[in-house]
Amino acid sequence: MAAIAADAAQHVRIADGYFPVDTLGPGRRLALWFQGCALACPGCMSRHTWDSAGGRAATIGELLELWDTALGRGAEGLTISGGEPLEQPAALAALLRGAVRLRQRHARKDRSADLLVYTGHEPGEVPAEVWAALAGADAVVTGRFRVGEPTDLVWRGSANQRLVPRTPLGARRYGPHLARTYPPGPRVSHRADGTGTRLYGVPARGELRLWERGLATAGLRLTNPSWRP
Ligand code: SF4
Repeated sequence: MAAIAADAAQHVRIADGYFPVDTLGPGRRLALWFQGCALACPGCMSRHTWDSAGGRAATIGELLELWDTALGRGAEGLTISGGEPLEQPAALAALLRGAVRLRQRHARKDRSADLLVYTGHEPGEVPAEVWAALAGADAVVTGRFRVGEPTDLVWRGSANQRLVPRTPLGARRYGPHLARTYPPGPRVSHRADGTGTRLYGVPARGELRLWERGLATAGLRLTNPSWRP
């Protein structure tokens, strides 16, 4: 029990959190965006997540409460993106440990909610003890976003990025999607509420500007669109 309490007290900086998101992995998911990324990929759609002092402070306990609520509402997975989650490895490891415990409490007969993590790093690029923070993930998407290498493969932003199942659950859920491509149509979804209008997902080249124009036609303005330098 002491380890659980210690994990819940762990601090983390996050950019955003939202449920349900259906464009960052299979099914309806809770998405959490970690704050801070030093990788600075040209064309990144999430420049607002780069500043490690930006976003807001949270505890792992708060994020696990969001996960608990999402599971209660039928969440099929948790996606952790950013920003670069491996820049806060202790928090990432604690979040994944807690997320595994909570999904066991909510386990359904047919499937368990999976845990997917996006990292801009490749295996071997960070110290082993940092990479070990991914231990609880069922699948990871690895590699920088390269704006000059577009791809139609689902949930990947550029052709160099790899979707890698890491557990039997990850293999079951992601195996059928490894070579699957997006159908024609939007790859991102939008959320508009009292705090602003945001886009969630992995857009095709040029898609963000189309969204911006379409939303403007509907009288909506994106909140600090951050794919522009
Ligand atoms: S695409 Fe991802 S890894 Fe690259 S700068 Fe943006 S947040 Fe960082």
